Amino acid sequence: MKHKVIIIGGGPAGLACVLQLKRYDIDALIIEKNHIGGLMRNANKVENYLGFPDGISGTDLLEKFIQQIKNNNIKIEFDEVIKLHHEKNEFVLKTLQKTYKCKIVVIATGTKPKKITGVNIEKEAADKVFYEVFDLKDTENKNIAIIGAGDAAFDYALTLSERNQVHIFNRGEKEKCLPLLYNKVSSEKNIHYHKRKILKSVSKKQCRLALIFDDQKKIDEHVSDYIIFAAGRKPEIDFFSDINKNEIDVLIKNKKLFMIGDVKNGIARQLAIATGDGIKAAMEVMLDSGFLILDS
Ligand SMILES: Cc1cc2nc3c(=O)[nH]c(=O)nc-3n(C[C@H](O)[C@H](O)[C@H](O)COP(=O)(O)OP(=O)(O)OC[C@H]3O[C@@H](n4cnc5c(N)ncnc54)[C@H](O)[C@@H]3O)c2cc1C
Repeated sequence: MKHKVIIIGGGPAGLACVLQLKRYDIDALIIEKNHIGGLMRNANKVENYLGFPDGISGTDLLEKFIQQIKNNNIKIEFDEVIKLHHEKNEFVLKTLQKTYKCKIVVIATGTKPKKITGVNIEKEAADKVFYEVFDLKDTENKNIAIIGAGDAAFDYALTLSERNQVHIFNRGEKEKCLPLLYNKVSSEKNIHYHKRKILKSVSKKQCRLALIFDDQKKIDEHVSDYIIFAAGRKPEIDFFSDINKNEIDVLIKNKKLFMIGDVKNGIARQLAIATGDGIKAAMEVMLDSGFLILDS
């Protein structure tokens, strides 16, 4: 199947890009492996995206994204890109279901959670271990442990504390989140924040989890229903290991390959930056004189 532009990832960056390409009447296919809206489904309240003076929940903003995509008759292809390479002046993308070819690829695949190391997680406990809050959003009256001390850990705690008891465990002394998140968490009676707690193991205890912490002075056990690891994220780029670094640089320079949003933004992982990247990439595709229209 041939397309002019293929966007990999239907998070905010990819959605902004496909929407802008639609405005130029440039045919683009967008492929999403999971849910439309990417990480927005995990966000508690977005207060730094212009146009929402009182802030907006991640879920409500996601609904607006989906509506906007529908209103513009944009179809999302639900599939996962598993391989990307470049040969004879075109890209070949392999997904779980199909093979696509195109001249221009926009990579908007965001990040994936860093897997925790140094913690022994019993196999039987694995079905109660999570890396995103979305999976537990409907949970009620449970005790949930969050391991981490950054924005995501504190944001997840706020989401879950509406209907559960939440414990945040920081292995260090100082939290690494925004002060406003820390202040919100501090005033929440259902959130309990623990410092200097180094998690060593997670095992099944009847139908719950036993978390063993070792702070060098003593060993503590905490019993919880679920655990979420929020220990940072890294770019989601495994599928293009076949293209070497030099070739990537040339493709980017020649505006054949675009990397947009969190996948390349380092610590500047923010919604407005991701959507801005998406619009900019679409404009560059449109303006690029080398742009060729392929027969489909
Ligand atoms: C808890 C939390 C709260 C946040 N709160 C805020 C906030 O208040 N304000 C703010 O500005 N930002 C916030 N952010 C950050 C914001 O969500 C991200 O900056 C934004 O979602 C990045 O968009 P993106 O499209 O680059 O990546 P993502 O949102 O990660 O989307 C990437 C998409 O690509 C898909 N994908 C990945 N690999 C493949 C593949 N191989 N094939 C097909 N599809 C693939 C993924 O499934 C995903 O849907 C928050 C993030 C989190 C986790």
